[in-house]
Amino acid sequence: MPSGVEWALRFASEVCRNPVAAVSRWKMLSGRKAAGCIPIYVPEEVLYAAGILPVTIWGNEFSHSSRRGIPPFVCSVAGGVVSAIRSGKWGEIDAWVFPSTCDTFQNAFEVLFPPEADRPRFPFVFPASSETPGATEYMLDRMEAFREWAGEISGRMVSEGALERAIRVYNENLRAFGLLEQRMKDSPGSFSGVEYFTLSRAGMALPRDGHTKILRAALSRSREPFRKTRAKVFVTGMMPTEPVMEAMDAAGAAIVGNDLALGHRYYSGPADETGDMLLSLARRHLRRDPCSTLHGLARPRIEELFRRFDDSGANRLLLLRMRQCEPESGDIPDMADTSRDRGIPFLSLDIDLQAEERASAKMRIEAFVEMGE
Ligand code: SF4
Repeated sequence: MPSGVEWALRFASEVCRNPVAAVSRWKMLSGRKAAGCIPIYVPEEVLYAAGILPVTIWGNEFSHSSRRGIPPFVCSVAGGVVSAIRSGKWGEIDAWVFPSTCDTFQNAFEVLFPPEADRPRFPFVFPASSETPGATEYMLDRMEAFREWAGEISGRMVSEGALERAIRVYNENLRAFGLLEQRMKDSPGSFSGVEYFTLSRAGMALPRDGHTKILRAALSRSREPFRKTRAKVFVTGMMPTEPVMEAMDAAGAAIVGNDLALGHRYYSGPADETGDMLLSLARRHLRRDPCSTLHGLARPRIEELFRRFDDSGANRLLLLRMRQCEPESGDIPDMADTSRDRGIPFLSLDIDLQAEERASAKMRIEAFVEMGE
């Protein structure tokens, strides 16, 4: 009989290995629909309240998606998402939600999406800046439209009570994920990079209450580090990949903090559980932590990044830069300059989901860990 921790990690790993099977099983058992969400910041609570399973797609769920017809300037996340949809690999998805995360998805989406695709789509256009006058009213209007759309897809109206329950379920999940990150900070090496990645990613294809159970089971593990730590690393960027996490684990690099889009950025930002629920979701969006894909001037991203870096106790900063990702690339000079001024070893490692360079990632991470030892 496997322990709770073993069960949790094995289950999460199986979901990551075959997310389509996980979605298919859920649909068969529940008789309900699934919506594909382009990362990140879809207000999933609305889908959950409608009885729809939100599934966040990152573009590397399938190993051999062809990039045929995808322009070379498109990043591998967008390229991977679109090529998988075009080749019919996401047949289990009944509808799509496209948030206006970046120019790639805002401007290229209609061109890249196959014309024959007949699944309903909701383009969730965020306000250009949270400080724009009328941003709250605008977000509230979009939330209302999203609620109606989700109700039509699922065939059941999204009531205020269902939204309130959904927000509670999601907040509980964020708290459990926060405990995982706190554990990794307090006990470097207590969870490996691969384990963190697996637990994070599994939540994106599972109902949130089920994912919370997995996190709680994983957290029953002893607080003792499992491996010797040679470096405490804060990781930023869009997303890690399994080979990069394996290379970090092999080099003795423990993740003690992160603001990864497939990580902390996705699992942060609880919504208020009182008052008008749609307004609560609208406000949550507008007060999100600074992110390269959101625009706001009140709290610059670099300041927030280094504040969190200091708080984590890290001694190195690793940027996992998605190739051709304009929003993240714009932050590199400031990250590099601030790291140099403060004497923090900094590495920017390029990620390309369709052309992973396992050997070079391993070499560069090993050298990074050795820096300043
Ligand atoms: S990786 Fe960057 S460019 Fe690609 S979809 Fe995400 S934000 Fe847009």
